[in-house]
Amino acid sequence: EPFCRALPKVELHAHLNGSISVATMERLIARKPHLNIKHSMTAIHKGQRRTLDECFQVFKVIHQLVDSEEDLLMAAKAVIREFSEDGVRYLELRSTPRVETNTGLTKRKYVETVIEAIRQCKQEDVDIDVRFLVAVDRRNGPEVAMETVKLAEDYMLSSEGIVVGMDLSGDPMVGHGKDLLPALQKARNCGLKLALHMSEVPCQKEESELLLTLPPDRIGHGTFLHPEVGGSWSLVHKVREGNIPLELCLTSNIMGKTVESYEKHHFPYWYKLGHPCVLCTDDKGVFSTSLSQEYQLAASTFGLDQEALWILSQQAISCSFAPEAIKQQLEKRWAEQRSQLL
Ligand code: 5GP
Repeated sequence: EPFCRALPKVELHAHLNGSISVATMERLIARKPHLNIKHSMTAIHKGQRRTLDECFQVFKVIHQLVDSEEDLLMAAKAVIREFSEDGVRYLELRSTPRVETNTGLTKRKYVETVIEAIRQCKQEDVDIDVRFLVAVDRRNGPEVAMETVKLAEDYMLSSEGIVVGMDLSGDPMVGHGKDLLPALQKARNCGLKLALHMSEVPCQKEESELLLTLPPDRIGHGTFLHPEVGGSWSLVHKVREGNIPLELCLTSNIMGKTVESYEKHHFPYWYKLGHPCVLCTDDKGVFSTSLSQEYQLAASTFGLDQEALWILSQQAISCSFAPEAIKQQLEKRWAEQRSQLL
C-alpha cells in the first residue's frame, strides 16, 4: 500500500541479525560457500510458520554468516538503508555483541562496528536517525549480562548519543529474569533505557512481575500479560499504571506461533484501552516483512483508517529513547508531512 510506505515511521524493535534482507543474505552466502547454507535456512517465507524454538535455530545459521567485522558492517549498513527506503525515519536497532574467535571479532569490536555503520550511513546522508540498543541474550546468564551492561555504559558515554539503551532477548524458555535483575538494575542506574522482552511465552508470569519492579521503559511483545492467556490482572494493571509502551510485532508472533492468527493478536486489546502501542517488525529478514507491511496488516485486520495509522506512527515518537531535542525535530517533520499525506 502506497500510503503505508509513504507514512513516516518509527521502528523501535528490530534485531540486527534478524533484519537482514534476502539480497544481503545472498551476498553473505556467496562469501562463505563452504558453509553450504541455503536461503531457506535463513528466512521463513510467507504463509510458513515455525515454532519459536525453530526460529532460534535460524539465528544460529545467520550468526555463522555474519561472523566478521566486515560482514557486520555490510549487513548493518544494508539494514539501515532498507529501513530508510521503507519510510522509517527513526530507528532503534538492537544487537547482541558476540565473540568470533576465528575472525578475531570481540564484543568491543562488535559494538564499535555497529556504531561505525550508523555513522557511515549518516555521512552518506541516508535519511534516517539511528540509535543502538545493546542486547543481553538471556541464555548467557548473569555474568555475561553484567559484562554487557558495562560495555553499553562505556559506549553510551563515548558514542555521542548513539547507544541509548539495552534490550533483553534470547530464547524465553532458557534462564530466568531473576538472575539478570542486578545487571538490568545497574543499566538503569547509569542512565541506559530498558526495552525488555516480557511475557513472550506463557509461564513467564513471575518473571514479568519481577521485571516490572525495575520498571522497564518499554516492553517487547507482552503477549501473555492478560489473565486469559496465563498472565494476571496485576501484570495488566502495572503495565497500564506505568503507561509502559508495548512493542508489538504482528507477523513475528504469527510466524513464531505464539499467537494463533492476526485476528487473535493482542494489539486491539491494548489499542482500545488507549495504551501506547508501537508496531514493529522484530526480524524483517527472518519473517519476510517490512514496517509498512506491518502497518498495512494492522489496518486491514483491525480496521484502522489512514488517520488512525498516522496517529499510531506519530505516537511512536514519544515512546522512543531519542533525546528530547530529536523527538521535537521528529514531531516537526511528521507535522510537515501530514498535509501531503492526509
Ligand atoms: P542479533 O542480536 O544477533 O543482532 O539478532 C538475533 C538475536 O536477537 C537472536 O539470537 C535472539 O537473541 C534475539 N531475537 C530475535 N528475535 C527474537 C524474538 O522474537 N524473541 C526473542 N526473545 N529474541 C529474539
